[in-house]
Amino acid sequence: MSQPLKTQVAVIGGGPGGYAAAFAAADLGLEVTLIDLEPNPGGVCLYRGCIPSKALLHCAKVIKDAEEAAQWGIYFERLRIDLAQMREQKDAVVGKLTGGLGQLAKARKIRYMRGRAAYQDSTTLTVTADTGEEQTLVCKQSILAAGSRPTTIPSLLVDSPRMMNSTRALEIEDLPPTLLVVGGGYIGLELGSVYATLGSQVTLVEMTPSFLPGVDEDLRQILSERVGGLFYKKHFNTRVEKIKEMKKGLRVSFRGGDGNAFAETFDKVLLSVGRTPNSSGLGLNTTKVELNDRGFVKVDAQRRTSDPAIFAIGDITGEPMLAHKASHEGRVAAEVIAGHNVAFEPRAIPAVVFTDPELAWCGITETQAKKEGRAINVARFPWGASGRATTLSRPDGLTKLITERDTGQVIGVGIVGTAAGELISQGVLAIEMGATAEDIGLSIHPHPTLSETVMESADMIFGQSIHMYRPKAKKDEQA
Ligand code: FAD
Repeated sequence: MSQPLKTQVAVIGGGPGGYAAAFAAADLGLEVTLIDLEPNPGGVCLYRGCIPSKALLHCAKVIKDAEEAAQWGIYFERLRIDLAQMREQKDAVVGKLTGGLGQLAKARKIRYMRGRAAYQDSTTLTVTADTGEEQTLVCKQSILAAGSRPTTIPSLLVDSPRMMNSTRALEIEDLPPTLLVVGGGYIGLELGSVYATLGSQVTLVEMTPSFLPGVDEDLRQILSERVGGLFYKKHFNTRVEKIKEMKKGLRVSFRGGDGNAFAETFDKVLLSVGRTPNSSGLGLNTTKVELNDRGFVKVDAQRRTSDPAIFAIGDITGEPMLAHKASHEGRVAAEVIAGHNVAFEPRAIPAVVFTDPELAWCGITETQAKKEGRAINVARFPWGASGRATTLSRPDGLTKLITERDTGQVIGVGIVGTAAGELISQGVLAIEMGATAEDIGLSIHPHPTLSETVMESADMIFGQSIHMYRPKAKKDEQA
């Protein structure tokens, strides 16, 4: 083993949490070493998550848009899909972005070590390269950003090339004639809709009564109408009990909520039932870091773990397991190490399901507000009344605003429709700035845009908006 290296801040994991933390720490004048197994920073998000999935969802959207152009008198020749080229283009997108992050790390003079890090004690790490070569790294502080991996269900483990997790599904090795997606969360829906649009016959199975548990029903309903239609079959309130490899495919045994057992055969099965933190194998037992009962690292508002020399951020610290949450935590941890008095205290973390239509929300949901017995006003602006949505032939949308009854402040926004993921940032800004519905209604929005639906939903809090008429009497919907 060579001489130990020294660094002020070691960042373990180069995902959106780790690289954001490393970049912020370097920008604050700290000397930083970033460690990851990949050749460049990027993490799950860039290599196996957000970016490749959105690249494939873009392909699916192009196909659907082309099909639907017929209503405008625009016809294309028969669809031909070159999977190898699609994969190449997706990989090129990933390569471009991760390469760019590598350049940004270099420009900031961050030492990038490729290997697997493990603690020897709170301030000493061993970094093991692919070759098995070991390097000791001594740091003053470290930021743990080792992320998460797909959850497996031991009883459903089948050693078969027909079984996929999200990482393998993103490789689109082929288009199986029949595919079962286990799990109706956002990853199952996104990847299921890609395969369905590309031509697979996709069945979805979900343990709960519907897709996206926890999302407000009115928003989910609109998503279900179109996205649900892509699936050949949907089994809700249903568990997968067993998967068995047969000559002709995977034989899957289900049990419905009514106790009924049935079985179906699929060419491939995609298991997308959640994410597990990468908190084992890191030598955390040699530190004072504490984990909760699900294996997530416990942190305080400044992202300090129970060990004074170690911070933790991103998926490894728990829900919501989203890239932008990880990045913001990374910035906070770096600033705290640099001596700033800051904390991770967001009022709203947006979440987006990138299906077509997209579904996005931030702040409190109506379901949650009602559960907590909060006094709220709720306004809904259906996109059938939006000029822009009509020009796009996409009236299947809804913008919904939730305000606090006493103060009028916006505390939640939910949007379903084309580009909802872009529009939701307006809601995040409103909540973070403590804006009221009146503030939004008084802000002039450009016409014709989908962003006007946010302004009109704000007007609806007071009963009317220009493009929606509600007969008197029923002024506000009060919850
Ligand atoms: P990760 O991105 O998981 O990165 C952790 C890194 O640590 C990895 O590169 C890993 O190699 C490295 N590592 C682990 N252990 C060690 C070790 N011992 N030594 C050195 N390095 C180590 N989120 C969104 O916000 N929007 C989306 O649209 C979205 N889509 C997704 C789609 C899919 C299919 C998946 C799977 C996830 C998606 N996510 C999305 C979630 C998002 O990818 C994660 O929330 C995000 O990547 C978490 O960032 P992180 O920095 O915590 O960790």
